[in-house]
Amino acid sequence: MATDKTAFVREELDSLREQGLYISIRTIGSAQEAWVTVDGKRVLNFCANNYLGLANHPRMKEAAKRAIDEYGVGPAAVRSIAGTMTLHLELEERLAHFKQVEDALSFQSGFNANLAVIPALMSQGDVIFSDELNHASIIDGCRLSRAKIARFEHRNPDSLRQVIEQETEYGRRLIITDGVFSMDGDIAPLDKLADIADDHGILLMTDDAHGEGVLGRGGRGIVDHFDLHGRVDIEVGTLSKAFGVVGGYVAGKKDIVQWLRQRGRPFLFSSAVTPADVAACIAAVDLLEESTELVERLWENTRYFKAEMKGLGFDTGESETPITPVMLGEAPVAFEFSKQLFDGGLFTMALGFPTVPRGKARIRVMLSAAHSRDDLDQALGIFKDVGQQMGVV
Ligand SMILES: *Cc1c(COP(=O)(O)O)cnc(C)c1O
Repeated sequence: MATDKTAFVREELDSLREQGLYISIRTIGSAQEAWVTVDGKRVLNFCANNYLGLANHPRMKEAAKRAIDEYGVGPAAVRSIAGTMTLHLELEERLAHFKQVEDALSFQSGFNANLAVIPALMSQGDVIFSDELNHASIIDGCRLSRAKIARFEHRNPDSLRQVIEQETEYGRRLIITDGVFSMDGDIAPLDKLADIADDHGILLMTDDAHGEGVLGRGGRGIVDHFDLHGRVDIEVGTLSKAFGVVGGYVAGKKDIVQWLRQRGRPFLFSSAVTPADVAACIAAVDLLEESTELVERLWENTRYFKAEMKGLGFDTGESETPITPVMLGEAPVAFEFSKQLFDGGLFTMALGFPTVPRGKARIRVMLSAAHSRDDLDQALGIFKDVGQQMGVV
């Protein structure tokens, strides 16, 4: 009999199901907006990273359609081989201006931006100081670099100082932190980390995926929020969250960005995003530079929703951003809660171990400028009903 070569995969899958860790993915049958069709049902959407409601914005769709007519649907090869389209260069100039940095380079995703920049700067014999709760793409970028990874306690500058003192053998050194942490919505103490980086002459990098379009003047991000312009060497950004499209970028000092055009492997060995994506992103920068209205509405919705949830008796954790965790304790409670919210017409994400620590399972509510006051009130009503039914409030 032939050997069953994939038996081990089936066993792993069964094990995930037994532990309740098997991810089942909902199917969306409409555009990403305040209301979406999920598995055939119209529900209020509190799941997406569509902070500013740009994912289905008419001006961005127009820009994408025009770009298809002018440039076609694909970039046809990697940029260093087939040449780069004017659109991609325009986006990079616009991003650099928006972020107030010397230069920027776009990638296919934020994940790829991390896989490009960290190994391009660090290698064996170097040390990377990394917040213990950094995003998976940072962790993978660090691993690919083969530098030593020295983790410091979450958002703890004292711990960072201690870890730096302990690491006496090094070539180059880099400090990396998420800007906004996506599970709790808390913000890195980037001002303090910048002081430490300056004191020790260590490169500083932040991944601002959840800060872009959210923090700082008109959504310029965490560096602007702390007024640290010129003191953070590398900023990674995503175009797939507040920008509403897809893609990522690295922004910062000219030398570093130039180096990535020579040595960033996802840039050199993988095609760029399509003309339509890029044109939509440029339109997003236009919208953000023209008006702060969407960012203000996002924060207004955030303040209103959090205050009302607290008033209802829910524990919304330590969040400082539109990411709103609703703390529920054990994972089965959170999953049941999410199911009942969905039955009531509200689409939210339940998170349990290992995504978050044991006993800290939650519903993660993502607020957006796309939500009207009426949408928020309906969501609050559904939360109240389910909370009372389940004895949470
Ligand atoms: C979402 C996220 C990414 C990945 O961004 P994509 O553009 O979706 O690949 C990277 N880093 C952080 C911190 C994120 O939250």
